[in-house]
Amino acid sequence: MFEKVLIANRGEIALRINRACREMGILTVAVHSTADLNAMHVRLADESVCIGPPSARDSYLNIPALISAATITGADAIHPGYGFLSENADFAEIVESHGFAFIGPSPKHIRMMGDKIAAKQTMRNLGVPLVPGSDGALEGLDQARQVAEAIGYPVLVKAAAGGGGRGMKVAENPAALEDAFRIARAEARAAFGDDAVYMEKYLDNPRHIELQVLADNLGSVVHFGERDCSLQRRHQKLVEEAGSPALNRAERDELGARATAALAKIGYRNAGTLEFLYQDGQFAFIEMNTRLQVEHPVTEMVCNVDLVREQIRIAAGSPLGYGQDEIRFEGHAIECRVTAEDPRSFIPTPGRVAAYHAPGGLGVRVDSALYSGYAVPPYYDSLVAKLVVHGPSREAALMRLRRALDEFVIDGLTTTLPLHRQIAAAADFVNGDYTIHWLEQFVSGGGGRSGG
Ligand code: ADP
Repeated sequence: MFEKVLIANRGEIALRINRACREMGILTVAVHSTADLNAMHVRLADESVCIGPPSARDSYLNIPALISAATITGADAIHPGYGFLSENADFAEIVESHGFAFIGPSPKHIRMMGDKIAAKQTMRNLGVPLVPGSDGALEGLDQARQVAEAIGYPVLVKAAAGGGGRGMKVAENPAALEDAFRIARAEARAAFGDDAVYMEKYLDNPRHIELQVLADNLGSVVHFGERDCSLQRRHQKLVEEAGSPALNRAERDELGARATAALAKIGYRNAGTLEFLYQDGQFAFIEMNTRLQVEHPVTEMVCNVDLVREQIRIAAGSPLGYGQDEIRFEGHAIECRVTAEDPRSFIPTPGRVAAYHAPGGLGVRVDSALYSGYAVPPYYDSLVAKLVVHGPSREAALMRLRRALDEFVIDGLTTTLPLHRQIAAAADFVNGDYTIHWLEQFVSGGGGRSGG
């Protein structure tokens, strides 16, 4: 087992990884920018190294600084968390070539799935159903028109290197296609330095359902069921639950069996998430994330598993040690992503936390790096806390969610807590009756007005 792990991240996920390491008796090294000197992830790690100025490009994305930090502290392994370098195959390769273990999938699989076109082709060859669309990258507007005519409008132009909902544009009809194509390309070039785009049919009412998998280095692949992440704004997840209110046990088992068989065939290892759109009883693969997801805690609560601990064990060469039939699903879990954003406009609202009180009690988990007096810096992602509740049933989890949201105090900072309180009380959410378009309609219809 590793003796020391460097955590190449910040905020709540750095804390999350720190927790798993300490419970395994592994020492930790935090890295931080000059803006994060007083951050909780720095305080709670065994050691810390400053890796650069505030801008992420010069600090959390600074590969030479990270490798130097791992070298001087004598770390054995690096955990990338999510975001930043977590899906950068070159980084994983550099980490390994310097003699450190990368706590994640192989560079080959990160590269394969990072190109969404290649990922879709791989999955299609493995017999996984896809959303209808172009076979590969679109070469130009003429080809885009042909594909759109063939699959039918509305269509979605998507960046091959996409992530975070960027480089994605809907065209409702032929007249809108030229703009969608041009804007998606320009956004993709600006955000990812790669303007390759492809096309999918724009599904009118799908749910976003994803499957958590783990694979060891010896060929065992298991899944931990699904998460429903349909509550989104601008294609970004806001609330997630495990399991999905729309899925039954048989559907979960079938999806899981197909996905794990596909991943076993390509020799996948460590954690991963397969994302699907689900509409009219059909699953269609959209992408695979080769890392830990923000929303992994809902799965942990339902399956009683520590996914980060599992990632570390696998990276150290340990076998999974259990099979699919030993994985149990108990009760229901819901996560709210609380961000430092205006709950109506979603404009970031960095600032100082005047008073902080996290909810507690049975079945309540808060993953956050906030504390009273902490100043949320303007340079990074606006996620400030994940409130996760678990209950014996979805109804019980909802009751617990509402009371935990009522207990949560974050003063001095504008957050999305009021919106979460309104969502938790909304009849459609309570009934599990929502798709990926529900939240934007709810917010624009006034449901998201603050004060609730
Ligand atoms: P990213 O990697 O940028 O997050 P994804 O491909 O994972 O992009 O899609 C993000 C979200 O965008 C999905 O969860 C879904 O809400 C929406 N989306 C993606 N593809 C489609 C599609 N073909 N039809 C309708 N909505 C889609």
